[in-house]
Amino acid sequence: MKKKIVVLAGDGIGPEIMASGLQVLDAVAKKCFHSFELEEHPFGGAGLDEAGASLPKKTLAACQNADAILLGAIGGPKWEKMSDTPEKGLLALRKALNLFANIRPVAVSSALIHLSPLKPEIIEGTDLIIVRELSSGIYFGEPRELTEQMAYDTARYQKNEIERILHSAFKLAQSRGKKVTSVDKANVLASSKLWRATAEEIAKEYPDCRLEHQYVDSAAMKLIQNPKAFDVIVTDNLFGDILSDEASVLPGSLGVLPSASYSTDGPSLYEPIHGSAPDIAGQGIANPISMILSVAMMLRQSFQEETAAQAIEDACDKILSKGLLTHDLGGQATTAQFTEAVIQELEGA
Ligand code: ATP
Ligand code: MG
Repeated sequence: MKKKIVVLAGDGIGPEIMASGLQVLDAVAKKCFHSFELEEHPFGGAGLDEAGASLPKKTLAACQNADAILLGAIGGPKWEKMSDTPEKGLLALRKALNLFANIRPVAVSSALIHLSPLKPEIIEGTDLIIVRELSSGIYFGEPRELTEQMAYDTARYQKNEIERILHSAFKLAQSRGKKVTSVDKANVLASSKLWRATAEEIAKEYPDCRLEHQYVDSAAMKLIQNPKAFDVIVTDNLFGDILSDEASVLPGSLGVLPSASYSTDGPSLYEPIHGSAPDIAGQGIANPISMILSVAMMLRQSFQEETAAQAIEDACDKILSKGLLTHDLGGQATTAQFTEAVIQELEGA
């Protein structure tokens, strides 16, 4: 059956790594039960340049009709001072598609263990997932105000928003290590107190799983002190943003981490956890692994193409273990060279 994938390459390194992701998708297409129809649309800074809006109406309509969405990255200095910004477009897209759950797996490939700034014995065997609430909290809460002398934001959560993200986390934990670590700041924040009480309630529905609570400051320390102690981490929008960038230290680079965002019924969106990296855009040196692994996540989760997804993950691991590394991992390989090697591995396999 034909599935429609909307492609939002975006800005900075977005188009470069998207090209890699799509080449890899093409290379595994024959292993797939479905066939895929790609539809590219401008979004973010590219949306502003081409259609005068960070989230053009046509782009949103296409996303709403898609079976899945692939996003590169958005943003950059060119659009920072505009009234409509790429970041606004991204928040609007997440809101419009009701993408409330952002799933960020952090596994450390054995090929990368010795590249991490952390001790190998600490990170070896790390396999955790950060489940970040994506559609509410302080990034969306009103009121907010900014004057020269005073500013505030509002960290607001409705109970049902906390319930549904906790359900996502427990369901994931059931398929893995059966442990959920809920991260909050319940000793200080009202929104976190509701978060913690709700987590306790939802946990009763999953007696096969264990729930523990950690304050975000302590969790930030433990994440790099003993990452193996975590299975599924569930947390709010702000804490999830910070902890997942921190977790990228474990595999050694932001450039290797994919993510999936889903709603209760509509299409899911797959994207690297990093941004558009304007400092290296246009040089052909970005690490495409985050995008390639996002394609694998899409194949597995939106289309149940487990064999193809696994083949992509194995191919990336194999190429890394041969020592072909992009510059963020200390190597010399270009985006195109790494991608080509993965494709050859897939075609030979
Ligand atoms: P955002 O606010 O969108 O999350 P950010 O401010 O966290 O963005 P990034 O664009 O993620 O910033 O980049 C952070 C650093 O990581 C930059 O130095 C960038 O070059 C590097 N980086 C990010 N992604 C990659 C990648 N795929 N390959 C190589 N380096 C990368
Ligand atoms: Mg960031």
